[in-house]
Amino acid sequence: MSKYQRTRFTPTSMSFGMGTWAGCRYESTAHAIEKRDGGKDRGGLIGNSGRFSYLALSFQLSPPAEVASRSYKMIIVLKPTATPEDADQILRQIEALGLKPLHLPGTERVVLGALGDERILGKLHLEAHPAVESLKPILAPYKLVSRSMHPHDTVVNIGDVPIGGDRFVVIAGPCAVESLEQMQDTAIAVKNAGAACLRGGAYKPRTSPYSFQGLGLAGLKILRDLSKSMNMPVITEAVEVGDLEIVEEHASAIQIGARNMQNFRLLKSLGKCRKPILLKRGMASTIDDLLLAAEYIVSEGNPNVVLCERGIRTFETATRSTLDLSVVPYIKQRSHLPIIVDPSHGTGIRDLVEPMTLAAAACGADGVIIEVHRNPAEALSDGPQSLYPEQFARLMQKLRPFVEAAGRTL
Ligand code: PEP
Ligand code: MN
Repeated sequence: MSKYQRTRFTPTSMSFGMGTWAGCRYESTAHAIEKRDGGKDRGGLIGNSGRFSYLALSFQLSPPAEVASRSYKMIIVLKPTATPEDADQILRQIEALGLKPLHLPGTERVVLGALGDERILGKLHLEAHPAVESLKPILAPYKLVSRSMHPHDTVVNIGDVPIGGDRFVVIAGPCAVESLEQMQDTAIAVKNAGAACLRGGAYKPRTSPYSFQGLGLAGLKILRDLSKSMNMPVITEAVEVGDLEIVEEHASAIQIGARNMQNFRLLKSLGKCRKPILLKRGMASTIDDLLLAAEYIVSEGNPNVVLCERGIRTFETATRSTLDLSVVPYIKQRSHLPIIVDPSHGTGIRDLVEPMTLAAAACGADGVIIEVHRNPAEALSDGPQSLYPEQFARLMQKLRPFVEAAGRTL
C-alpha cells in the first residue's frame, strides 16, 4: 500500500460552489499536497470548472506516526556567546541518543543539526539549553542540500576550477569522444575561446541501441591525457555503478545524465566517490526530484554536487526540450548547491544555444555546459545542437557583459 493511501484525512470544513466536475483523484491530490506542504499541513480537494456544482473540502492531513517520524531533521542555532565546548557537548548528547549529529560552523553563528526522530531529540529539551538560541525543523523533503541547513553557497571544485563562487564557469566540448584528433582539435578551440573545463562522453546513453554508444575506456584515456596536456579539468558521464571506479580514475568530475537521475543505486554509489558529481535533471523530473536525487549523493558522503538544468519534456515539439530557466533562481533560494545550465540539450538547436547561454548567465546560473564539435556535420552524436568552434568563440565574446551584469567574472 502506498503512503498516500495510508494517509488519514480528517475533514474540518466544507463549502459548495459552481463549476465542472472533472474528477479528482485521491492519490494525485494527496501527492500534490505532500509536495507543497511536506505532508503536514492543511489542504483542499477542489473539483474542476464546468457545468456541475463542485465540492471544496478542507481537511487536516495527519500522516501515520511511522511516516512522520522517519528521517526528520532539526537545526539548532547556537547563541553568539556559545563556546566550542557547548557545541561539542550538545553534539555528544545528540549522538548518545542514537541520532546523527551535524556540525555546521557559519561565519556569524554555529549551527548544529540532528537527523533522526524528533521525539527522541525532544528528550534533550534543547530549547532550554543556555547556549541554544533557537530550534528549527527543516520541512523540505530534502535536508542536507537545503539552504536552511547551510545558508552559504557551496563551492565545488572541479579540478582547480571552482563552481558556485564568483566565477561563471563555461564547460565545453563534444557530445562524445570520437577520436584523439576530434577531441584534441575541439579542446584547443574551446580552451582558446575561454572555456574552463572540457566535456566529452566516453559512455553514451543513447535512445536507440543502434546509435554510437561511445568509445568506453579508450575514450576515457583520451580525456585523461588531454586533461593533463591541456591543463583543463574534464567531465564525463558514467552510466552504471560498474563504471564509477574507472571514470573516477580518469575524469575530474563524473556526469550523471538525465536518464539516470533517479537510478538510486547509482546515486548511492556516487556518495562514496571522491570526485565531484555533475547531476543533470531528468527530463520528466520535478525540482524536488532533482534535489532529492542530490540528497542521495550528499547523504551517502559526497558533498560535491553540481546541479544541471538541461530541459524537460513538455508538449512542445519545436525544440528538443523545454529549457526551464526558472529552476535556477528557484533552486538558488532553496539549495546551497551550485547549478549550471545545459542550453545544448535544453534546446537541441544550435542557433538557440547562444541566446539561452546569455539568459542562463542573466538569471544567476553558476555556469553552462555547451556542446562544441570541430565539425558538427560529422558528429556521431548531437551534431544539430553542437556549435562550430567559431560560433563558440563569438558566444564567449557576447557572454562577458551578461556575466559582469550578473556580478560575476568569466
Ligand atoms: C550529454 O551530456 O551528452 C547527455 C547525454 O546529456 P543528458 O543526459 O542531459 O541528455
Ligand atoms: Mn549530447
